[in-house]
Amino acid sequence: MDFKDKVALVTGASRGIGRAVALKLASCGASVVVNYASNKELAEEVLGEIEAMGSTGQVRQFDVSDSLRVREEVSSIARELGGLHILVNNAGINRDSLLVRMKEEDWDEVLTVNLKGMFNTTKIAARVMMKQRFGRIINLTSVIGEMGNPGQSNYSASKSGIIGFTKSVAKELGPRGITVNAVSPGFIDTDMTRSLSDSVKEQYLKGIALGRFGSPEDVAGVVAFLASEEASYITGEVIRINGGIYT
Ligand code: NAP
Repeated sequence: MDFKDKVALVTGASRGIGRAVALKLASCGASVVVNYASNKELAEEVLGEIEAMGSTGQVRQFDVSDSLRVREEVSSIARELGGLHILVNNAGINRDSLLVRMKEEDWDEVLTVNLKGMFNTTKIAARVMMKQRFGRIINLTSVIGEMGNPGQSNYSASKSGIIGFTKSVAKELGPRGITVNAVSPGFIDTDMTRSLSDSVKEQYLKGIALGRFGSPEDVAGVVAFLASEEASYITGEVIRINGGIYT
C-alpha cells in the first residue's frame, strides 16, 4: 500500500487503535495528523514515532464534539498540508451502566462524542474531498453496535448509528470519488477494554473463535486497506474484525 502524497487525519490517535492506525498509514508514506483530546504527551510520542520512520505529520488537539473547533482544524489541516485524503473517525468513549441506572449525561456524552463527533469531522472533510474528487473515510463502529451488550445501551446506540451514517454518506459521496466504510472491531486490547474485570474478559474470550482478543494492529491493517487504491471499489461496507465472536 502506498500513501505517498496523501494527507490523513486520524481522530483519537494518541492511544489504542487510533495510534496503531496513524503509525500504519505513516509507514506506508502518508502525512498523518494525530488528533487527541487531552493526552498531549502521548500524541507527541506518536508523532515522534511517525517522524522516526521518515514520514511527516502534525499533532492537533481538538474535541471532535466541538463543531466550531472541528471546522477550524479540519479546514486548516487541508490548507496547510495540501488537502485531506484520508479521514479515520476513530475517537470514541464509553460510559457503561445498566439502562435503569444510566445518567442522562452519560447517554448524552457518549452519543455526542461518538456519533455527533463523526458528523462534525465528516461534514467538513467531505467538502474538501469533494473538491479533490477523491477521499477515503473510515469510521470505527463496534461489534457492540451490531449485537448489543448489557450495560452499553448508550455505546451500542452510538455505534449502530455509525453504521447507518456510513451507508447513507457512502451513497451521497460515491459520485464524487469518495468511499465511506466502517470497520467493526470485536474486543481489542486497549485502555477501553483493559478496565473490564478478569471474569468478564474470561466470559468474552469463550465466545471468540480465534481464542484471543484482537490487537490494535489487527484493526489498523484493515483500515489501511480500506484507505488504499486496492479498495477503490468498496463503499458503504462494514468490515468485521472480531475474531469470530459475531458473524
Ligand atoms: P482508547 O484506547 O480509549 O482511546 C481513545 C482515543 O480517543 C484517545 O486517543 C482519546 O484521546 C480519543 N478521544 C476520546 N474522546 C475524544 C474527543 N472528544 N475528541 C477527540 N479525541 C477523543 O480507545 P480504543 O479502544 O483505541 O478505541 C478506538 C475506537 O475504536 C473507538 O471509537 C472505540 O469505540 C472503537 N472500538 C474499540 C474496541 C475495543 O475493544 N477497544 C472495539 C470496537 C470498537 P486522549 O488520549 O487525549 O484521551
